[in-house]
Amino acid sequence: MDAEYDVLVIGAGPGGSTAARFAAEGGAKTLMIEKRQEIGTHVRCGEGIARGLLEQAEIPIDESWIAAEMDGARIVSPGGYSFDVDESKAGAEVGFVVERDLFDRKLAELAGMAGVDIEVKTSAIEFIKEDGKLVGMKLISKGEPVEVRAKIFIGADGFESQVGRWAGIDTTLDVKDIMTCVQYRLTNIECDPKYTEFYAGSAAPNGYIWIFPKSATTANVGIGMGGQAVKQGGDPKKYLDEWIANNPKMKNAKQLDMIAGGCSVCAPLDSIVADNIMLVGDAARMIDPMTGGGIAHACLAGRFAGGVAAEGIKNQDYSKEFFQKYEKLWRAEIEEKLFLNWMAKEKLVTISDEVFDTLIKLLSEVGMDNISVINILAVIKERHPELIEEFQDLI
Ligand SMILES: Cc1cc2nc3c(=O)[nH]c(=O)nc-3n(C[C@H](O)[C@H](O)[C@H](O)COP(=O)(O)OP(=O)(O)OC[C@H]3O[C@@H](n4cnc5c(N)ncnc54)[C@H](O)[C@@H]3O)c2cc1C
Repeated sequence: MDAEYDVLVIGAGPGGSTAARFAAEGGAKTLMIEKRQEIGTHVRCGEGIARGLLEQAEIPIDESWIAAEMDGARIVSPGGYSFDVDESKAGAEVGFVVERDLFDRKLAELAGMAGVDIEVKTSAIEFIKEDGKLVGMKLISKGEPVEVRAKIFIGADGFESQVGRWAGIDTTLDVKDIMTCVQYRLTNIECDPKYTEFYAGSAAPNGYIWIFPKSATTANVGIGMGGQAVKQGGDPKKYLDEWIANNPKMKNAKQLDMIAGGCSVCAPLDSIVADNIMLVGDAARMIDPMTGGGIAHACLAGRFAGGVAAEGIKNQDYSKEFFQKYEKLWRAEIEEKLFLNWMAKEKLVTISDEVFDTLIKLLSEVGMDNISVINILAVIKERHPELIEEFQDLI
């Protein structure tokens, strides 16, 4: 590790590795630090990724990290009605269940191949400021204190991010916009190896249960529960255990691992840049509030932030004004979707199991070429206007 870099990327998740790669490919001298001693482990993820955004983020699709290729997603209502979303309806939203540790490592490898210096077991602990300006970062690297100076910082330090806050960017989350997740890798179960499955309704208050298959007998089975429900004493693990116990296809299940973690399910933040700094991925609250998916968004934002950082270095401009270029790029691609899905999520958490049944039954009966929140609402408005009153402002 040198004492000075053009760009310092904090965190080697998908967002950080992609940002670092594109910064280096654009000619910036780049360092990426990761507090864990091994990039990619331990995995805290359902491991589902849509193909389209990955392609947009210029992530080469690589057999090495694909565990299973999906034909689509299945949404199941509390009463057992189901609605399949396949490639004909959702296009490139359909994708893979991956081996997340291998995926993250591959992205870091691409960064390394682009010339990025990578330091694992190295934590950012505090900015070095001169006249209020961010000029460097204090690190603990392999147990030793180190200082590194940089012109641009990219905060890619995930859901528990501190870097943005240290730089004065408001990334605070409302309790209702935090999803608490618990997931098991289960084997010796029966599952559809070609469909990810989502179970909505009171089985997972303010959230959903997912099955993301690795094969016909092994899957990530998890629950995400909204902050309000958890605050009122709801225990996601108890809900998940009960649901699994009542599922005949899982009666012989054996548990291979258990993970827990948080996701933001908020509306897009107003600003994720300041002088000398940009945030990407979970640190910038870019998770889709409807699905909880954030990997591909982190990659896409990483690509944009890395490119803008390289350009900033060439122009010697590291100002908040210059970084509006990054704000425009990522917002043009995902801001509207994040906002609409957040609004839809806000409504969905209020509806009863009976209404869920009616909605899913209706969707399974109606042919729809192009699935989106707006198109779904339009169909419901046509067939069941009484159900849609609450969603009127969304439409
Ligand atoms: C249970 C669960 C299931 C999920 N399932 C899915 C799914 O199926 N599909 C999907 O798309 N998304 C899913 N997500 C969300 C997804 O994991 C994230 O959106 C994604 O990891 C975001 O990538 P990132 O690079 O922004 O952050 P991260 O992947 O979290 O990477 C941040 C990195 O920064 C490092 N770091 C943190 N602080 C510091 C520091 N001070 N110094 C140095 N390094 C630091 C961390 O160790 C970490 O490696 C899930 C999340 C959870 C919790």
